[in-house]
This record gives sequence, structure tokens and C-alpha cells, in this order.
Amino acid sequence: MPALVDRFGRVHDYLRISVTDRCNLRCLYCMPEEGMEFTESENLMSYDQIVEVVEAGAALGITKLRITGGEPLIRPGLDGLISRLSAIHGIQDIALTTNGIFLAKQAEALRTAGLNRVNISLDTLDSSRFRFIARRGELKRVMEGIEAAAAVGFDPIKLNCVLLKEVNEDEIADFLKLAYEQPMHVRFIEYMPIGHADENWKKHYLPLSRVLEVAEKEGYAISRRTNVHGNGPSDDWQMEGARGSFGLIHPISDHFCSNCNRLRLTADGSIKPCLYWVDELNIKDAFGKPDEMKRLLLRAMDIKPENHEMAAKLADGAQTHVPTERRMSQIGG
Ligand code: SAM
Ligand code: SF4
Repeated sequence: MPALVDRFGRVHDYLRISVTDRCNLRCLYCMPEEGMEFTESENLMSYDQIVEVVEAGAALGITKLRITGGEPLIRPGLDGLISRLSAIHGIQDIALTTNGIFLAKQAEALRTAGLNRVNISLDTLDSSRFRFIARRGELKRVMEGIEAAAAVGFDPIKLNCVLLKEVNEDEIADFLKLAYEQPMHVRFIEYMPIGHADENWKKHYLPLSRVLEVAEKEGYAISRRTNVHGNGPSDDWQMEGARGSFGLIHPISDHFCSNCNRLRLTADGSIKPCLYWVDELNIKDAFGKPDEMKRLLLRAMDIKPENHEMAAKLADGAQTHVPTERRMSQIGG
């Protein structure tokens, strides 16, 4: 019998773990260029503490983990954490989301440590636009990271591309071509209003129906893929004759809350039942007390809301709860 079942009957087997809120980039949809305040290192969960949470979660039916951030690869010794997590009874799948800048150096060690899958964020194929979106870093490093990930055997490689109106929507066709020619899965993601200025979000929000329009205009014979392992909320498509595929993550234009199976753990030690709302449970007092940790994970099931209300926000409708003030980099995506 699964233990982590919420009030709406949703079974939770997936935990996303943010290992840091710091990042070497400043993507314009995620955090401001200046003035971010980060968690002091003494207030970050230690790797021992993360292992404790995962042990409690695994005893309650968590089988899948995703390591995220901030940028997870800036936290030293991540391969050591992954190796410890992969040894926990019940954990079957560990994935990583990274901006890819430091991946080339670490890909092999991560693979050896037991990392099963990797998602690399890539919003543009143009180096000067990369600098505009990410504000720091170099596209070349990300591309080297992608190559290194493929070389050490991560398969499939998934690329996360947040689409922004008037910023990178003109690259949809290029990303589709990439997925046609290379064995990569491109996941287009709708820009979400998480913890920051609404006006910028509305100005750049783009519904992902646009991707299907472009795919048809470009002449691809597309069809839906079903039952793709590990693809969570992604609405997946294939193009006839393609080496890769693409997916649409459209939490706003068509939300997937009824299938939500995930909990989030912030780098400063809070369980977030939903990405969007303010509600969270601080678990710091439960370290060293496995039964209390399990109780808090179960409590998260009681307070998990039925859905987020990002679509209502787009339409300037009333919100039934209070949205979080955390930014995406502080939650982990
Ligand atoms: N730094 C890593 C990276 O960029 O892949 C991991 C953390 S990042 C917060 C996780 C994912 O969230 C990335 O794919 C990023 O593009 C996405 N993301 C960040 N802010 C977003 C937003 N406002 N709307 C949609 N996706 C967002
Ligand atoms: Fe950093 Fe990832 Fe946020 Fe970009 S999306 S600023 S890489 S945490």
C-alpha cells in the first residue's frame, strides 16, 4: 500500500531535491541580475541531512529523485551524495537538472556514482542570445556539457527549453530540427510566474500550442507518444523519421495537477507540496528523528492543494491561496 497519498488520491513517489539556491547564471526568467540573497552555507541542508530525508521518503514509497538547484553542480562532492542516495533501499531512479556549464568535467563521475538521467537547460542555440538570457556564462560550455553527457552514456539526453515570447520563440524551428537530427529529447517549458514580477511574466509568457503550429508549418509528421518512462508531466511528441523527439510542459495552458506525484525539498530544509503556493513544512527539527521526518512527509499530503492557479493569474482572476515568494532557483523547478 503506498503511504504518500494526498487528499485527492494522488500517490507520491517522486522527490525533487534542491541542493543549493546559488547559481553561476542569472537566467532572466528565474532570478534577478543583481541583489539575490542566498542561504548561508551553515543553513543549507548537509548531505547527511538530505540522506536522512530520502531514507524517510523511501520508507514511505519515494522511488524517484531529481537533484536540482540553483545550480547543483556548483555544490562540491555531488557525486558522493548521488552515490549515497543510489544505495538507499527503494530508490530506483536518480536524475539531475543542470545548466550544463560544469557538466563536461563531472559527467563521468556522476554516471559512475549512479546518476541515471540528466536534463540540461538550453534556451537558445545562439551564443549572444545565451548571454542575454543567462546573463553570464557561455553557450559553448553548455554544448560541451551535452557532448560529455552523451559520451559517458546518458541516454536519452533531455534538453529543457523555456520559451519566452519575443525572446526565443523564433528558435522553435531550430530546436525541432535539433530533435529531428540528434537523439535528443527537447522539452519546451512554459514560462511560469514563480515568485517574481507579474508584468514581465505576462509580457513573455507563450502558450506551447505555438510549438505544434511551428512543427506543422515546418512539415514534420508529428504524433503523440504515450507511456514514455520517466517523462512526468511532459506531453510527448515524435516526428516521423526523427532521431530524437520533443515534449511540451504546459502548466499554464493545460495543467497536469491531477497527476502530480511530486514533493519538493528546498536547499534550506523545507518540504514544498506544491511549486506555486506559499505553504511548506520546515523539517529542520526532524533531523535525527526518523519517525518525526516521516510524520512531516505524511503531513505534506494533508496540506497539498488540489492544483496551482497559474492560469487564473494569467487571466487576472482571484487566487484562493497565497503564492510563494520563493524564486524558481530557491525551489528547484
Ligand atoms: N540550474 C539548473 C538549470 O537551470 O537547469 C537547475 C535549476 S532550474 C531552477 C530548473 C529548471 O527550471 C530549468 O530547466 C529552468 O529552465 C526552469 N525554470 C526556471 N525558472 C523558470 C520559470 N520561471 N518558468 C519555467 N521554468 C523555469
Ligand atoms: Fe540558474 Fe537554473 Fe535559475 Fe538559470 S534557471 S538562473 S541556471 S537556477
